[in-house]
Formats: sequence, C-alpha cells, structure tokens
Amino acid sequence: MATAKLLLLMVLVAASSCDGSAWRGPLSRLRMLPTAQYVVEAAAERLKEDVSSAPLIHALHPLLGSAGDFSRRAGVPCDSWRLAVETYNKRDWTTVPASCEGYVGHYMLGGHYRRDSRVVVDEAVAYAETLNLGGNGKEVWVFDIDETSLSNLPYYANHGFGAQPYNATNFDEYVVNATAPALPEVLELYEKLLSLGTKVMFITGRHDTEKEATIKNLRSAGYHTWEKLVLKPSSLGSSVVPYKSGERQKLVDAGYRIVGNMGDQWSDLLGAPEGDRTFKVPDPMYYVG
Ligand SMILES: [Mg+2]
Repeated sequence: MATAKLLLLMVLVAASSCDGSAWRGPLSRLRMLPTAQYVVEAAAERLKEDVSSAPLIHALHPLLGSAGDFSRRAGVPCDSWRLAVETYNKRDWTTVPASCEGYVGHYMLGGHYRRDSRVVVDEAVAYAETLNLGGNGKEVWVFDIDETSLSNLPYYANHGFGAQPYNATNFDEYVVNATAPALPEVLELYEKLLSLGTKVMFITGRHDTEKEATIKNLRSAGYHTWEKLVLKPSSLGSSVVPYKSGERQKLVDAGYRIVGNMGDQWSDLLGAPEGDRTFKVPDPMYYVG
C-alpha cells in the first residue's frame, strides 16, 4: 500500500512538472490538462491491477506505461519513433535505438501494447461480424505467426526488446522450444472467426524446417485447428512480400476468398492480393522487409 501511495505521489509530481515546452502560448495550457489527467488516470488504473499475479518475464517493471516521461528519456522522442515504425514511415531499420530500449520494454510489458492490440482486434471482430459469408467454406482469414498469433516477448525481453542485433541462432533455438504464448487478443479473434464459419490459415516467414515445432507451439498456445499452414521454403530468399503475396495468390487461384489478413509487419500485408481487409497489430521490436 505504501508503495502504491509513493507511486501515485511520483506520478502527480511528474504530471505537475510537465512544462509543455514543445508548445508555446495558449497551446501549452491546452496540452497540460489532458496530459496530467491522462498520467494520473493511467497510474490509478495500474494501482487497481493485481500485478503480483501477473507472470514475471522481465525485471523491467512497468510503472507509468509508455505514455509517461520514459518516452522522452535522454531527449529521444521514442514515442514518435514508434509511431513512424507503425505507420511504415520508418523502414529498413535493424535495431531499436539503444536509448529507446526502456521505452519499448515499458510499452510491451505495460498495458499499452495490449491496449493497442485490443483496438486492432475489436475492429477486426466488428468487421468479421458484418461479413456476409457465402457458406461454401471458402472464406479464409490469413494470420501471420510471430508477434501476431504467437508472442515471442519472453525471448525479446531477454534480448533488449529489439535493441540488441537479431541473432538467428539464438532465436531459432527459442522457436524449437515451442513455448511462445498466444497474443491473447489475436487468439480471441481466431475463436470468433471459427465461430462465424471463417476458415483460418497461417502464412509465416518461419522456415519449413521449423514446421513441427510451429505446429506444436500453435496447438499448445490454443490454436487447435486451421485450414492451411504455410511455411517459407528454406530455398527462398529473405524478401517477404513476394513470398507471402504469392502464397495468397495461390489461395485465390484455388477458389478461396481472403476476407481478412493480419500481421505485425507491413510485409505481411502488402502485395496483391492483400485480402478484403488488412489489420496490423503493433510491433516496435523489429522490422521485417
Ligand atoms: Mg510476424
């Protein structure tokens, strides 16, 4: 309880110290109120959570969420960097900026990542419910796997949340363990789609040599059935768009209608045929072109 009060006090002090220096004149007053209000509300929300029951996967304990001053640590606007990543304005980056490791960690482990995922999935569910399914079993929803259906956060939490250079050997060892949990919101969408009569397919950048581990992991995470699981032939190059769009074209040629397409990378979604609608779930930890 004492810790909770101390946290709230820290938040109030932080909120009151917002100087709005990025805005001048009347704008600074406009900015102050909602910012302070949001920070206090976010802290109150966290105080209500029973964090002690949450699985601890990293010592980095989320305090204020990514909306707090962590985003401006060392003067680096990590929140702006993340927005540019999500909107595909920032491309071809290899690692999270070192000064944003803490920001991305708090974003992923705090409530922000899950809230953002919730918004995406709520939109997808609302869209799916409007679908006029033909009842011929040919309507399919395509899911990516890593950071979409399955979350590799337990791995990335131990590798700088994307601030450390990607190590294929280490990551492949993790994949073989088949222990990645589902991203809960996406698993919820998966169940909803099945209940609506939509078939589900997975098209992943994982190599076909990892098929067994991937099937095992999907099942243990709660994905109990699917129409098709497509893994990337090891002989193919690294470019994702031609591979994934080519696999989607094969589905269309086989008479399927791709009603939805969801991934954490733009390369999961771009390239005809994209599907009737695309949905991007957040991922500030790595870029796959
Ligand atoms: Mg992915």
